[in-house]
Amino acid sequence: LKRQVAQATKMQAVGQLAGGVAHDFNNILTAIIGHCDLMLMRHTPGDSDYDDIQQVKANSNRAASLTRQLLAFSRQQTLRPQVLQLPDVVSDVSSLLKRLLGETITLTINHGRNLAPVRADPGQLEQVIVNLAVNARDAMQAGSEGGGTLTLQTYPVTGQDSRQLNNDIMPVGEYTALRVTDTGVGIPAEHLAKIFEPFFTTKEVGKGTGLGLSTVYGIVKQSGGFIFAESEEGKGTSFVLYLPVHRADPAEAEAPVREKARTGEL
Ligand code: ADP
Repeated sequence: LKRQVAQATKMQAVGQLAGGVAHDFNNILTAIIGHCDLMLMRHTPGDSDYDDIQQVKANSNRAASLTRQLLAFSRQQTLRPQVLQLPDVVSDVSSLLKRLLGETITLTINHGRNLAPVRADPGQLEQVIVNLAVNARDAMQAGSEGGGTLTLQTYPVTGQDSRQLNNDIMPVGEYTALRVTDTGVGIPAEHLAKIFEPFFTTKEVGKGTGLGLSTVYGIVKQSGGFIFAESEEGKGTSFVLYLPVHRADPAEAEAPVREKARTGEL
């Protein structure tokens, strides 16, 4: 629990700092890109300065897309939760996933029966799934085969199961789970504790920001849920996401869970 609180505090501090810097940076970059466009209008393709200006513009665009990611991360967008079924969110995002995964990665989707609805922001959940899928793709493309299988599974988790799974962090209760499994290179044990930290990345400069999983973590926490990673090097990785079941009966204790999530207690 201590680690979770430390993580939440750290994310907040980094978020505020990053948001402020990113905002100013974005304005500066917009000016640079605008002036590049003005200069390009005074040159013709092929003349000696044209390519250099193009390069400045292309790199500024890359920097701008990075700052946009930072902004999205720091904004801590307010959730618009809805009662929804996880399989519906998965199916809404599946064609995007197929495009993203390309030809060498197979997408397998498996839904459990009698799933209970959860209460979450569908757009944010889609972002969670996309972020996990992008990482999974990178991990599979980094492997010797350059491809693999991404499996999305949904299933119900009863109180008893949840106790067996994570007795010290996750309260016993009813959850609907989503497991995202890849056959990629895996995560070394010494990295597993750090992957949800902002800015932790093993990717080359310009390829990874280290913000994907901390964004995922933030969204899951804000939704009152839990996320865990399991991995075996050379075999693959699973991320398991647990969202508390939504009960229509207002007598059931749903509010306390959300209240705790809001105050960062979970
Ligand atoms: P980024 O993808 O920009 O590096 P993330 O926060 O999304 O940032 O991920 C942090 C790090 O966690 C990655 O750089 C990678 O080392 C590791 N990682 C995340 N997902 C996976 C995965 N499915 N397989 C292997 N490593 C992963």
